[in-house]
Amino acid sequence: MKNNFCIAVLPGDGIGPEVMQQAYKILNILKDKCLLNLQFMEYDIGGIAIDKYGVALPQKTLLGCQKSDAILLGSIGGPKWQSLPDKQQPERSALLPLRKHFNLFVNIRPSILHPELKNLSPLHSRITRFGFEILCIRELTSGIYFGNSGNNLNQELQEYAFDTEIYYKFEIERIAHFAFKTAQKRKKKIVSVDKANVLQSSKLWRRTVEEVSKNYPDVELSHLYIDNAVMQIIKHPNTFDIILCSNLFGDILSDACGMLTGSIGMLASASLNENNFGLYEPAGGSAPDIQDKNLANPIAQILSIALMLRYSMNLHELSDAIYSSVNTALKQGYRTFDITDNTDYISTDQMGDIISKLFIKEV
Ligand code: NAD
Repeated sequence: MKNNFCIAVLPGDGIGPEVMQQAYKILNILKDKCLLNLQFMEYDIGGIAIDKYGVALPQKTLLGCQKSDAILLGSIGGPKWQSLPDKQQPERSALLPLRKHFNLFVNIRPSILHPELKNLSPLHSRITRFGFEILCIRELTSGIYFGNSGNNLNQELQEYAFDTEIYYKFEIERIAHFAFKTAQKRKKKIVSVDKANVLQSSKLWRRTVEEVSKNYPDVELSHLYIDNAVMQIIKHPNTFDIILCSNLFGDILSDACGMLTGSIGMLASASLNENNFGLYEPAGGSAPDIQDKNLANPIAQILSIALMLRYSMNLHELSDAIYSSVNTALKQGYRTFDITDNTDYISTDQMGDIISKLFIKEV
């Protein structure tokens, strides 16, 4: 089994560098104690890269990512760069090109309700008492965000604007195959979400997912319209395992599922291509409101490493060990400010130290 990996580390802006410091603690344990030959190289991205080089995704960063097995990203953007023209905005000019360059068509977002954090969920306790663990698998490089769009907003005639949802069959097939293969390693259950009662692209989506499912007879497939899916996820989140969605529906549903767990500071995300090359990052942004205060929750960044070990490196036991360390820290009562109701919380650094110590015991 391969055990030498190179990781491109991109801390980025805002709380990115603070939470990445905690991720380094885990990376160093993986390197020193787990017989992994890990190399990590750090590169600039986002606002900090604009300040240094005038572009959010410098060539050196892109080349560094190309030479790596995976990318570990912090977060990008902030008020300092908000007044730049649309095309130069850090997220738009760094994140989207990165996804496109590496053809990261799969986006994975686990939403896990930790038993210790049930009180943070906006859902009623009669729903949260069952817990839930939903994996949202979203198509990331096609659909309405990439179709033809336009407007005549500056005309004297009636103004209009349009966006087009377009899906090629192969784009649906490849994300569906990924979802079914993932389902075989979990509860063998997929809910595919669409709007096939109205949209042509959804009709193709549903038919194609049905066809792909024939290759995976051990996986149970059902379909929900997006409006019903939202209702059912709020009402019975524990009945879902994998949710398979288009780019637009996945964008919305993954945030909705995430919010049901309590804090964005707990949510990691992975974007992958067909070779399992991946970009791993927290689901949240650069959180300028808590930047440089040692307040940010580092768990999302640490769990990004767990996803990287699982999906790009095939090291499932080490991935589980990270999840287990985080669970133990929560069970032992350690909380950052975003996951507690009282003032008895610990800092970003302290949470990083505690999880690292628990991780050393696990490995
Ligand atoms: P945000 O996710 O940065 O913050 C929303 C709220 O969540 C804030 O109150 C913040 O303090 C909190 N939060 C986020 N991460 C947290 C953590 N780890 N621990 C504790 N609390 C946390 O969203 P926003 O305020 O809308 O955006 C701020 C900047 O981030 C903007 O410039 C936006 O463009 C950028 N952004 C970047 C990414 C990315 O890098 N992928 C994603 C979303 C937003």
